[in-house]
Amino acid sequence: MDKSKFPKKVSIFEVGPRDGLQPEPEFIPTEKKIELINRLTDAGCQRIEITSFVHPKWVPQMADAKQVAAGIRYKEGVTYSALIPNMKGLELAIESGLKEVVTIISASESHNKKNLNMSREDSLKQIEQINKVAKENGIKVRSYIATVFGCPIEGYVDPKVVLDIALALESFGSYEVSLGDTTGMANPISAYEIPKMIKEKLTKAEVAVHYHKFNGLEFANNLASLQAGITIFDGAAGGLGGCPYAPGAKGNCQTEILVEMFHRMGIETGIDLEKIIEAGKYAQSLSTLLFQCDGRSEH
Ligand code: MG
Repeated sequence: MDKSKFPKKVSIFEVGPRDGLQPEPEFIPTEKKIELINRLTDAGCQRIEITSFVHPKWVPQMADAKQVAAGIRYKEGVTYSALIPNMKGLELAIESGLKEVVTIISASESHNKKNLNMSREDSLKQIEQINKVAKENGIKVRSYIATVFGCPIEGYVDPKVVLDIALALESFGSYEVSLGDTTGMANPISAYEIPKMIKEKLTKAEVAVHYHKFNGLEFANNLASLQAGITIFDGAAGGLGGCPYAPGAKGNCQTEILVEMFHRMGIETGIDLEKIIEAGKYAQSLSTLLFQCDGRSEH
């Protein structure tokens, strides 16, 4: 392994307060969500996805999005973003004063329909409109592509489809595209090849990777993506999360272990390891789903 080819610093995008807490079946009090976000800020996280402006009928756990956005401590230099499924979500994010929103589309048509209740084509039209209005309001747009490395419904996903979506997102103005392994189906070869291919084709947008747990394989996948030239990694403190619409989806890649891996390799993250470990423990203390997600009974 040629260390000189690795970057001196990588960027961690913390998704715990949103992607981590979203599927929790028991409502977590708003003040605890705020406490988690403040701890992540104190740990040195520079990019935190704090909530989702989604209809509470779809995701009851995120019903307090407005209160969370109003209640957290904002630190200068830290980007606080929210996932938005549609224009209404964008309006609410603007009202809440956020400077960054995150959109989502699935590379798999079946998953997109199940997760977002519309076709990929309609999702793209919507994200184009979101980008237009966000730009007028001085808001940056980050975009997820889900099921990049495989779909729980369709199985194989053609990387060319992922590329076409990534190019469309870039053309709309999304500044970063995060490639999601929604149900932990990636392996170190696909985690090397797909992000590398996408990064080579995009001319403006950055490429991030978003791996989900599969008994530790997620760290091998992150390492493979690092070797492919990726420098932006999504993680959730405590390893919480999972997709309620993707059967078998386990938690997100655990931020504190990702941070430890990079630090041991001599790669900076800007995050304090001890503090992120504590924030991760706090996140885990809020979860009732974690141990169900961690169970190995499904494979
Ligand atoms: Mg996730």
